[in-house]
Amino acid sequence: MSEAGGNGRRGRTGLPLRVKCPQCGQPTAYEGNPWRPFCSERCKLIDLGEWAEGRYAIPAEEPPEGGEGET
Ligand SMILES: [Zn+2]
Repeated sequence: MSEAGGNGRRGRTGLPLRVKCPQCGQPTAYEGNPWRPFCSERCKLIDLGEWAEGRYAIPAEEPPEGGEGET
């Protein structure tokens, strides 16, 4: 178990780990943050809402309708 090196992002600056809020992009504390990785409950709910609406879904390429395609 080595504390130095690895995935830890702490230690170099001594600052607490911060992450960017996926919703608004604001740097927010990760540890001790009940809404992590979001900065607030609002951003979390917004993100969940977008998932629910399917905005994150991969758009399917639907073929154009009403056409034979080949001429
Ligand atoms: Zn946010």
